[in-house]
Amino acid sequence: MTRSAELFAEARRVLPGGVNSPVRAMRSIGRDPIFIAAGRGARIADVDGREYVDWVSSWGPLILGHAHPAVVEAIMTAAKRGTTFGAPIENEVKLAAEISARVPSVEMSRMTSSGTEAAMSAIRLARAATGREPVLKFAGAYHGHVDGLLAQAGSGLATQGIPASPGVPAAAASATVIVPWNDPEALIAATDRHEFAALLAEPVPANMGVVPPAPGFLELLRDRASATGALLVFDEVITGFRVARGGAQERYAVTPDISILGKVIGGGLPAAAYGGARSLMERIAPAGDVYQAGTLSGNPLAVAAALATLAELDANAYEQLERVSAALAAGLRDAAASAGYPLEVQSVPGLLTPFFSREPVRDYAGAAASDLDAYGAWCRALLERGVYPPPSQFEAWFPSLAHSEADVERTVKAAAEAFEEIA
Ligand SMILES: *Cc1c(COP(=O)(O)O)cnc(C)c1O
Repeated sequence: MTRSAELFAEARRVLPGGVNSPVRAMRSIGRDPIFIAAGRGARIADVDGREYVDWVSSWGPLILGHAHPAVVEAIMTAAKRGTTFGAPIENEVKLAAEISARVPSVEMSRMTSSGTEAAMSAIRLARAATGREPVLKFAGAYHGHVDGLLAQAGSGLATQGIPASPGVPAAAASATVIVPWNDPEALIAATDRHEFAALLAEPVPANMGVVPPAPGFLELLRDRASATGALLVFDEVITGFRVARGGAQERYAVTPDISILGKVIGGGLPAAAYGGARSLMERIAPAGDVYQAGTLSGNPLAVAAALATLAELDANAYEQLERVSAALAAGLRDAAASAGYPLEVQSVPGLLTPFFSREPVRDYAGAAASDLDAYGAWCRALLERGVYPPPSQFEAWFPSLAHSEADVERTVKAAAEAFEEIA
């Protein structure tokens, strides 16, 4: 029995499903999880001493790779001065200014400890600012496990959502309307029918796999928000500081009213933020009347890790990230083509998903039509060959600045063998 298997047996007695977050369990690729001992750069090692090229990058935060020396140093220096005070520190001010410099629509921001909290708080702010309750979100988008956002489409078009999990109050879900991504008619119909507080979108959805916006779709979202008095909320928890220095709003030149940031902004520690125009953010307590707080918000270690991470993210870094993403996407396409295997690799700089699909994926229905069993078998074959892919078809691969040409080559070689094996 491997050490991973032993640990998993123990874990299942004391943790639900043996894990602290569901996707780690690897159930959707039909195997047990792998317990990790350490990571360095683009490589991770498991508790049985096996090494992998890691394309999960902790689901996005590790844009510099594991244990980046500057980040580790910043965290250690901060830790020696005290891990938390519950009082303001200088670095919080620096970080907020750094965020605004990169994301100009965020004149003012508030930190939280998770993306879930930031999304919840952004929606509260949008409701306060508009005096409205309904929120529009897209099918297949994920904004954390906030009650009202764990909603799925009810029957009929542009109607109220129903709970997507037991325990979510029907009333919370019914304030959410779910629309298919990249569907202009559905978006127009929903915004004609409801007075929304917020139109909420991942500007490049990456939680149904990567499904970039069709040309004009983000512009339409902006127009519909402005025309109907709703706030446009971009959840850039994944795309922020990743698809461009200023996130998706820079890459696509569409400006939201509120931005939600997470993952990269914590530099590998728990941190997230939301922000927007000063006039809007001054509604947040104690400047204003909208309550929101957090014991560990703006935590000194997380803020130090964030500043150290952003300091590495200059123009060269984004060029490199774009190169490695494009090389991996091209390599996976070629490997599939050589094996005669149908594959649609969808990518933007810093993110990609190989969909086991014969057609481009435009929305959640398209993603869900992928051959999930084949993706699972292919992932299991990759793991056998020392490559650690996201263990779900509905997740993005996260290239980092630590991934080298050799890492891409090793991955593409393993991918080619894995396609042959499952073909
Ligand atoms: C991960 C994620 C969240 C939730 O962030 P947590 O820190 O896991 O709570 C929200 N929105 C998007 C787009 C995400 O990918």
